[in-house]
Amino acid sequence: MHKAKILAIGCTDLRFQKIVDQDLQIRSHYGEFDRILWPGTSKDLRNVLSAALTSLKLHNPEEVLIYEHEDCGAYGDNNSEAAHKSNATKLKKALLKEKPQLQVETLIATLQEIKDL
Ligand SMILES: [Zn+2]
Repeated sequence: MHKAKILAIGCTDLRFQKIVDQDLQIRSHYGEFDRILWPGTSKDLRNVLSAALTSLKLHNPEEVLIYEHEDCGAYGDNNSEAAHKSNATKLKKALLKEKPQLQVETLIATLQEIKDL
């Protein structure tokens, strides 16, 4: 079985790929992660969780990084940090329920930086 160090979950938005890549390069030996890209990151809990559980089952990562981002088109009118945090926290809880020993970080990307959410 291939073992992943990290599962990275982020949005499809092209504007944030470079900054997320840079963050992953700092945190990990690049290439040692599974990645799920889905519009809205954790907003679509059902589908993102299903994909994440497949990664946990197949590649057993120890750490999950959830990259929300500002100005997300999938969020429509309510693009507040609180809305992103609420959805990211739901995803985090669902993942911890499945694998309690996971380390899960919720993050938000701006065009300039990645910060804790
Ligand atoms: Zn987005």
